[in-house]
Amino acid sequence: MTKAVVIGAGLGGLATALRLRHAGFEVVVLEKQARFGGRSNIIVENGFRADTGPTILVMKDVLENFYRSIGEDLHSRLEFVRLEPNYRLYFHDGSQLDLHNTMAELADAVDRIAPGSSPRVFRFLGDAATKYELAMEFVTRNYRHITDLVNPKAIGRLLRTRAYQNLYAQVSRFFAGDDKLSKAFSFHSMFLGLSPFEAPAMYSLITYADLALGMWFPRGGIYRLVEDLVQLAEERGVWLRANAPVAEIGIERGRVTGVRLASGEWEPAEIVVSNADLPYTYRHLIPPAWRRSYPDQRLERMRYACSGYILFLGVNKTYPTLPHQSIYFAQDYRANLEAIFRSYSIPEDPSFHLNHPTATDARLAPPSHSLLYVLAPMPNLRGNRIDWSAAAPIVRDRLLNTLERILDPDIRQHIVWERDYRPTDWQRDINAVYGTAFGSLAHDFFQSSYFRPHNKSYEVRGLYFVGQGTYPGIGIPMVIISAGLVTERILEEWL
Ligand SMILES: Cc1cc2nc3c(=O)[nH]c(=O)nc-3n(C[C@H](O)[C@H](O)[C@H](O)COP(=O)(O)OP(=O)(O)OC[C@H]3O[C@@H](n4cnc5c(N)ncnc54)[C@H](O)[C@@H]3O)c2cc1C
Repeated sequence: MTKAVVIGAGLGGLATALRLRHAGFEVVVLEKQARFGGRSNIIVENGFRADTGPTILVMKDVLENFYRSIGEDLHSRLEFVRLEPNYRLYFHDGSQLDLHNTMAELADAVDRIAPGSSPRVFRFLGDAATKYELAMEFVTRNYRHITDLVNPKAIGRLLRTRAYQNLYAQVSRFFAGDDKLSKAFSFHSMFLGLSPFEAPAMYSLITYADLALGMWFPRGGIYRLVEDLVQLAEERGVWLRANAPVAEIGIERGRVTGVRLASGEWEPAEIVVSNADLPYTYRHLIPPAWRRSYPDQRLERMRYACSGYILFLGVNKTYPTLPHQSIYFAQDYRANLEAIFRSYSIPEDPSFHLNHPTATDARLAPPSHSLLYVLAPMPNLRGNRIDWSAAAPIVRDRLLNTLERILDPDIRQHIVWERDYRPTDWQRDINAVYGTAFGSLAHDFFQSSYFRPHNKSYEVRGLYFVGQGTYPGIGIPMVIISAGLVTERILEEWL
């Protein structure tokens, strides 16, 4: 039986292990951390169960297809709740907008905040739907040659939707320059670690996917998905090892021979699939002689996504009218994003994503308590300009000041449990390059589709990559697709 080692048990690594096992390979997964899941992890303390990474699932059909591909039914294993509204948006002037997923309610809400604007929402969503269809042609395929990008139907859609333009500028044109609606329909690129002021307009496809296809929460939290994949892997004979950091990929005469663990142990294998951050894998696990196409200088030149600061709060009261997800926009939104992406400094008034999972599943906290997760995008660690031990209390204070203003003036008195997670934690815990949160490589044009690092090494036979660092990219659906694509390659080349 051909043996494959998967380095890292993020969602992409776990899905690849299951797919390869299903196809008849012997599979060993080696994970650095004590717990599986990578960026999708969890804290269980004092009766609170908090997801530490992803909180919501979009494009659920991707997960359904993956489960089907290994002979399982997603819905008989996990229970999903569709969010409504998707988000509540808090603007600095005190106004709010709920992004409903039923179009009539969305139109009403938009008309309340900007009278007469609802027809613009439908025009915008129609255009975003075309971008979604366009993107899917490039998301669900392996790349070999640049000619794989040539697709006359797609080029037509690209030109028609001007998906290459700037995201914020284009959305703003759809909404006749209305500042609130422009923010409301463009902030989604932040979940790829990209500023809407710098992202291509193509990424309005995420707004479409959220609104049209729904946002889903598995009861018990997103970590239930990791637990289920681990259980399936164990049942099917994948050998999963935690606390097993890999120090080097063994290569002889252009072929993978196995991996050496930090403990010195040797694990032989014909195939190695790295789910660790791709730039980290190239720089730290592959000897320079075997990565001439990815020398350090090239890795340095790449653009990296942003990081984040998360404040977890257990609160001894409930907020019955607060929905599952909210977004707070800083007064000076542009300055906020410039601090994150340009000057690499702590924003004065951080925008943030407020997650309130106990709105959907009260069992994630003790009775009559709430769990809040405040995620503020932050600069990554490139250039090391921020001392996070000094910065964290400042950011915490700024976030709590805003929560006092928009949610509860007494919130500080009600906090009974608290934790935080910083850019330096991602770097330390999972070898995230520059402490990047959502994924390592930014999704600009020259780091997407064919131009994103490929999921196989062209220099070493048997060496592959999976997860957010290769194509299609960042986010749960993308890394699950990535697992399908790398498995397709391996089956083509090894069976
Ligand atoms: C705060 C936050 C919020 C997010 N929100 C969402 C969301 O709501 N919805 C969504 O779809 N996506 C979201 N994402 C993005 C999503 O979580 C990631 O893109 C995805 O989980 C990445 O999966 P991956 O397969 O690339 O593996 P990763 O999660 O990056 O895992 C890589 C694994 O490799 C391991 N590893 C590294 N080096 C070694 C080594 N030397 N030896 C052994 N193991 C090693 C690491 O420990 C880690 O377990 C969020 C991410 C974050 C951080």
